[in-house]
Amino acid sequence: MKQIILTGDRPTGKLHVGHYVGSLKRRVQLQNSGKYDEIYIMIADAQALTDNAEHPEKVRQNIMNVALDYLACGIDPDKSTIFIQSMIPELTELTFYYMNLVTVARVQRNPTIKSEIQMRGFEKNIPVGFFCYPISQAADITAFHATTVPVGEDQMPMLEQCTEIVHKFNSVYGETLTEPKIMLPDNKACLRLPGIDGKAKMSKSLGNCIYLSESPENIKKKIMSMYTDPTHIRKEDPGHVEGNPVFIYLDAFCKDEYFSEFLPDYANLDELKAHYTRGGLGDVTVKKFLNNVIQAEIGPIRERREAWEKRLPDVYEILRAGTEKAHETAAKTMSEVRRAMKIDYFDEGNLLKQD
Ligand code: ATP
Ligand code: MG
Repeated sequence: MKQIILTGDRPTGKLHVGHYVGSLKRRVQLQNSGKYDEIYIMIADAQALTDNAEHPEKVRQNIMNVALDYLACGIDPDKSTIFIQSMIPELTELTFYYMNLVTVARVQRNPTIKSEIQMRGFEKNIPVGFFCYPISQAADITAFHATTVPVGEDQMPMLEQCTEIVHKFNSVYGETLTEPKIMLPDNKACLRLPGIDGKAKMSKSLGNCIYLSESPENIKKKIMSMYTDPTHIRKEDPGHVEGNPVFIYLDAFCKDEYFSEFLPDYANLDELKAHYTRGGLGDVTVKKFLNNVIQAEIGPIRERREAWEKRLPDVYEILRAGTEKAHETAAKTMSEVRRAMKIDYFDEGNLLKQD
């Protein structure tokens, strides 16, 4: 069986370090592993419009931002197909048919949808399109016969929903769709990176992010003002590393070699954590170290982004060509689906045939 990756991001803002550790870094590794036959990376503008219907300009602007962030992180358009969701009408068409295979109660149970509805203040006014986005995500995944979906932990319920749709579709209409497997980050800290405000998830919509394109000065400002352990008031106080965003970021980004470079009093993160836990280590020292680590990780990405920013017509062409290629694949799957659902009336005069 062909090994196919599908993953993507909503163009609701520039990408942040949560995206990087939760999904982007992995995608680049998978892309360069040579183990995958096809890789599709989707800029999910139609999904972004489900909760930004009144801000189409925001979605449009961020298409280029997301594409630039991809290229800056090392997504290679010769190896990965980057495309724009709304330009592929088959994805909407598939969504419409999959809606028949899912109950309202089932979507209501989706924990990510539940928390996103709350976060957006949608409790009484949920747009139908937003409510249905897990179904549209199943269309995106299955349109490419994706076998692997590398994403952050918040996407687990979406993958479960997708698998259920695949099973239901195949059992009703015959084996047509491919069951995808989720691929979560190996590092626990990267599953759902918290925000700099200590909230459970760094998210474009919450504005609690460090962006991949952030200036060195802004990164420093944000890190130095980060939420830490509220019980660690004086330097001498024993501190907590569990649930402390500064240490979670270090878990996500730190490599041992950064200690010899930036904080040679410690050999590794365990030693630093032990000192913080027993007391006597100030937040400022830890934050300064974290700032050095993040600057070292993000610096090369920002530089590559600046180089791509000077080549916008090339980025446009990458998106145009990628979308054309992805469209061909999705159209092929759509005809398989139409055949399975017996709605292929005009293919070879099928409507006239008895079955
Ligand atoms: P929005 O607030 O518009 O939903 P977002 O920041 O949640 O934006 P998405 O475009 O929804 O970003 O998510 C894109 C991918 O990045 C998904 O695979 C998601 O799991 C992953 N991701 C997003 N935020 C984080 C995070 N804080 N930690 C780890 N992975 C994340
Ligand atoms: Mg999201």
